[in-house]
Amino acid sequence: MSESIFSKIIKREFPAEIVYEDDELIAINDINPQAPVHILIIPKREISTLNELDESDAILMGKIIIVAKKIAANKDIAEDGYRLLVNCNKNAGQTVFHIHFHLLGGRIFGWPPG
Ligand code: AMP
Repeated sequence: MSESIFSKIIKREFPAEIVYEDDELIAINDINPQAPVHILIIPKREISTLNELDESDAILMGKIIIVAKKIAANKDIAEDGYRLLVNCNKNAGQTVFHIHFHLLGGRIFGWPPG
């Protein structure tokens, strides 16, 4: 399967606004933001969907949530609140098949989501 756009970003073959990076994760501003803060937190290892995860990925997934809360604090959206979500496959509208968590904040979100 061809490499995802996020793998190209990780390898600096495609531009992005990087807001956080460590050995396992990268976080970038979404190119089509749905909120004043819309950041994608992405594992560097290309995993296509949540369905491909197993128990060995538990620490990695936990790290993403911890990084998300730190970014939320840095962006000053922690107290007002934010949404952290992952789309899986077509019914959820997943378009990039490389797992990414959306961190959205800076406005009020409805529930249930559309
Ligand atoms: P999803 O629908 O969950 O797969 O979300 C994919 C997200 O990636 C969308 O919010 C897109 O706007 C975003 N996106 C796609 N290409 C890029 C890119 N080159 N840089 C930043 N965000 C991107």
